[in-house]
Amino acid sequence: MRILKWVIIAIVAIGAALFAVANLFKAQIGERIFATTVERAISTNLIADLPDGLHVILLGTGSPLGDPSRMGPSTIVIAGSRVFVIDAGSGSPRNFGQVGISPGAIEAVFLTHFHSDHIDSLGELMLQRWVGGGHTAPLPVYGPQGVEQVIEGFNLSYRQDHFYRTAHHGADVAPPTGAGGEAMPFRSTAPSETLIDDGELKVMAFRVDHSPVEPAVGYRFDYKGRSVTLTGDTARSPAIAQAAKGSDLLV
Ligand SMILES: [Zn+2]
Repeated sequence: MRILKWVIIAIVAIGAALFAVANLFKAQIGERIFATTVERAISTNLIADLPDGLHVILLGTGSPLGDPSRMGPSTIVIAGSRVFVIDAGSGSPRNFGQVGISPGAIEAVFLTHFHSDHIDSLGELMLQRWVGGGHTAPLPVYGPQGVEQVIEGFNLSYRQDHFYRTAHHGADVAPPTGAGGEAMPFRSTAPSETLIDDGELKVMAFRVDHSPVEPAVGYRFDYKGRSVTLTGDTARSPAIAQAAKGSDLLV
């Protein structure tokens, strides 16, 4: 009985010691996991293995109704080594790791419209891009008029978290000037509008019919003789046929 008593005391003592050590290193373990995750995100690079050209990845194809097998609407367009994201539906940023692309590589986001299921992971996307690339400027987010409100809202909601991230992970991982997004609104009254045209890449926005959601747009990317047209949510319309004319791919 006496031996048993000492065995129990020893087990309790070892358990308490382990608990104390675990608590002591809890903060460090958390930072370690975060640093490893960031490092993995940075080192993940599908783009290096892709041939130069235009590539499209469906990051999420779900709807506002919950579906464990599909994240909310979000599409990656890769033009050469440049990475763009169209819409940021529920949970979609969590698929970046699976497709082998670092969110830190995102150059800009394009929103088709402001339905909740197309924008509700924008906060997470901006955060992942920020710390994944140690960016010193906010993420440009293109959209029709109204995008200013959306970005202002997300920036406000995440303001406290931005401070925590820099305080906790350091200014190298989370530079204070790179947090959040910068709205890049365009005139939504024109039937179509060129947003980027630098001789290599051309990105155009065009109006679609997602009544009563107004404004709603699609985007067309042209890169080195290839093109993809993404409509977002829309009814069939002659405007889409016009915008997609000659496209290699219609999403
Ligand atoms: Zn919609």
